[in-house]
Amino acid sequence: MENYLKEELDNLIKTDDSIFEFLQQGSLDGLWYWDIEEPENEWMSKEFWTEFGYDPSKMPHKSSAWQDIINKEDLAIALENFKKHVEDPNHPYDQIVRYTHKNGSTVYIRCRGIAVRDKTGKAVRMLGAHNNITVVMNANERLKEKNKELEQYNYIISHDLQEPINSILSSSMILQNIQDQLNEDEKYSIDIIIRSSNRMKELIRSILDYSKITSPKEKTEISIEDLVEQIKTEMGDLISRYQATVNYIGENITIRATETDLTIALQNLISNGIKYSRINEKPIINIEVEELDTAYQFSVADNGIGIDEEFFEEIFKIFKRLHTRDKYEGTGIGLAHCKKIVELHNGKIWLTSEVGKGSTFYFTISKNTLYE
Ligand code: ADP
Repeated sequence: MENYLKEELDNLIKTDDSIFEFLQQGSLDGLWYWDIEEPENEWMSKEFWTEFGYDPSKMPHKSSAWQDIINKEDLAIALENFKKHVEDPNHPYDQIVRYTHKNGSTVYIRCRGIAVRDKTGKAVRMLGAHNNITVVMNANERLKEKNKELEQYNYIISHDLQEPINSILSSSMILQNIQDQLNEDEKYSIDIIIRSSNRMKELIRSILDYSKITSPKEKTEISIEDLVEQIKTEMGDLISRYQATVNYIGENITIRATETDLTIALQNLISNGIKYSRINEKPIINIEVEELDTAYQFSVADNGIGIDEEFFEEIFKIFKRLHTRDKYEGTGIGLAHCKKIVELHNGKIWLTSEVGKGSTFYFTISKNTLYE
């Protein structure tokens, strides 16, 4: 026995209807029970309708009753998940769907379900539960808006900073042209001004690029093998400078994603894999993609210097570097960039690594746009 109270509660639920009623009303914003064999028949709890502003006594217990008020794209995703869940009980029936409230507003529902099967394993009924997450989704929307404002602010500032830097650079170049009239100390100072200004310019450009990533752009069908080939061509200089090998080792799958975002994330991880290579060891980068239930999982593995576990979180922070520039070139923004992109697609980024052997960076991007 797991716990005597659990057993007691199980019995109460079976024997006392008010307990089940309490659980249903207290924790769910709608319950539905659908007859897969007679698909027109479906029972819906009162809350199912009150959440959308309808009087439950006037609504029929028919599956067609809610089809007009659910968002059509979300319905297609739910039906796809239903099909997969019926075929494989391990595939979760779990998604966020939008309904239109009687007053015209959008209601966000997390809709989960489980198929009830007969002795042969055939799904005959579907039991589903609704949770209204509109408040959370709306708060999230407001947060995104605020973030956008901050990004714009960031963009304007970094954009405006370019001008004075360019003036410093061009004035110092003029001074460099009259080098023969300057003493050694003066020449040295001008050299420092030029180098620092160039570095500042590089940093400002990377902040600008970073602030340009705001919301996921349009998704298209992308063949991963083709995308990796295209990235290899674009990175041709770096690849040949380091005599690196970049392989796509997975099956060629086609996914729906935002090409620019995916390209930036992969480019950053591949170039890091090449840059942070070991002396006397030519870089070999292996890329793979795996399709999960709700996301695509990418991995980029290298045979480079590796990263100590204590820095696994730190390296994703903007401008965080573990090495000086004279050893490895870079601005410390690449991984922050990747993290931002991945999180925009409701994914995660993480790594495994062994110092002196190599690192593998993983990231996921969500398939369901509503989670973005
Ligand atoms: P950058 O490469 O411009 O310094 P990143 O944000 O891409 O900036 O990386 C942050 C730091 O993480 C790097 O400076 C480096 O110390 C470490 N790092 C990133 N990728 C790797 C890798 N594949 N192998 C070893 N170290 C890495």
